[in-house]
Amino acid sequence: MSSIAIVGAGLAGLTAAYRLTRAGYRVRIFERYPRPGGLARSLEIGGEPLEAFYHHLFTTDTDYVSFAGELGLAESIEWLPSKMGIFADGRLWDFGTPASLLRFSPLRLPDKLRFGLSTLLLQRVRRPDRFENVTAAEWIRRHQGERTWRTIWGPLLYQKFADDAERVAMVWLWRKISLRGRSRSRSGLGECLGYMRGSFIRLVEELVSRIEGSGGSFHLSDEVRRLDRDSTGFTVVTRRGSHPASQVLVAASIPDHLAVAGHLLDEGEREALGRLRATGALCTILELTRSLTPYYWLNIADSDMPFGGLIEHTNYIPAERYGGRVLLYISNYLFTDHPLYHAPKSEVLGAYLPHLRRVNPAFDPSWILASHHFRADYAQPVVTTGYRRQIPAMRTSAPGLYLCSMAQIYPEDRGQNYAIVYGDRVAKLMLEDLAGRGARGEG
Ligand SMILES: Cc1cc2nc3c(=O)[nH]c(=O)nc-3n(C[C@H](O)[C@H](O)[C@H](O)COP(=O)(O)OP(=O)(O)OC[C@H]3O[C@@H](n4cnc5c(N)ncnc54)[C@H](O)[C@@H]3O)c2cc1C
Repeated sequence: MSSIAIVGAGLAGLTAAYRLTRAGYRVRIFERYPRPGGLARSLEIGGEPLEAFYHHLFTTDTDYVSFAGELGLAESIEWLPSKMGIFADGRLWDFGTPASLLRFSPLRLPDKLRFGLSTLLLQRVRRPDRFENVTAAEWIRRHQGERTWRTIWGPLLYQKFADDAERVAMVWLWRKISLRGRSRSRSGLGECLGYMRGSFIRLVEELVSRIEGSGGSFHLSDEVRRLDRDSTGFTVVTRRGSHPASQVLVAASIPDHLAVAGHLLDEGEREALGRLRATGALCTILELTRSLTPYYWLNIADSDMPFGGLIEHTNYIPAERYGGRVLLYISNYLFTDHPLYHAPKSEVLGAYLPHLRRVNPAFDPSWILASHHFRADYAQPVVTTGYRRQIPAMRTSAPGLYLCSMAQIYPEDRGQNYAIVYGDRVAKLMLEDLAGRGARGEG
């Protein structure tokens, strides 16, 4: 008997699976890793789950919050104050509030005024059109000046987009700024961020249990190698076997989609997908005996540093939950051909640790109780000018084959909220098509 196959048990694939199983379809989900969750997966520290890649919610992530409500988890989301800083000119500065901007001496007063005013104006713009065909680098240089680009925005964009930073469209930065502005308190004095008590993996686990309860099944540690298609439908060829399917949803990265289904697509679609780029992420977690900085989020605006951000999770969530350990994420977005990307953890730590002393001269490697190192090959799609015309379709050129990927999220930045929105959206399309074909009986 045929069923719907989903490649990828990240949040987008799970959301789609949840909707499809609830609509009465039989769904099989294939995941290459032993556990579901994708980029939102977790490890355990001191008996408490913790995200392998740091995660929080903004108050504008309303779809995540209402989905958590639907799954009975709304009460588990805590909104806690967070403190942001920036490392620039060899020292730490508070950042993200009007008062901290005034004290931030790497910018001169006229630069600060231009930066503050134009950022406020950006938050008020509602329509993205004017930002779609200009790069953030050009726009910021023109409206906020070269120094502000070099001191603030340039480092932030290099942090996420590496050598593609100057190609990123202003629309991406505008959306980030406008959503972030709404996430801040009215006074602009601070920001509360959302965290799922017990980690975001709880929503993943709840989804898995509901999908299984509605007849869905999981094939974990069972990577899909290839999709084949003939007049009767698809065959999902995995590491462990092959399975028939009437429809297939690839809920994964563009390279993963091309690897399993590229040969089924029109040449034009395949080539367009092949041109899309994304940075990978290295995320190193240090379990420490002492706190490194007073901030939850520290942007690094210093091109000599080998990483882009320090996220001290326990300056946001109490360390007591993790057996008293201080938890520090060292964040580094790189293209996967960068020499550090595939380096072993010892080499990465060897490159990073001397620089932690620049952030806090008292830092000593003896503070480290344990460390963990994670890689994500596809972490941040690069949104370039004219991206709207390049957004991959959810209905692919191969009938019955669908795609849901972070590369479709536009103009917002990728995140759990949008994995849910887009997972929902693709499920609706599939349900529409299935209803049109009268294929429900096949379930
Ligand atoms: C460093 C970092 C920090 C982040 N911080 C935040 C944050 O603070 N807040 C927030 O909301 N979001 C954050 N995100 C983003 C968030 O994690 C993602 O947007 C979301 O989890 C993406 O879900 P997805 O299902 O689209 O993709 P993924 O999570 O990538 O899921 C795709 C799944 O498909 C599987 N797969 C791929 N190919 C195959 C195959 N051939 N066979 C079987 N399985 C396959 C993969 O193993 C994976 O599990 C962050 C991401 C990163 C990398």
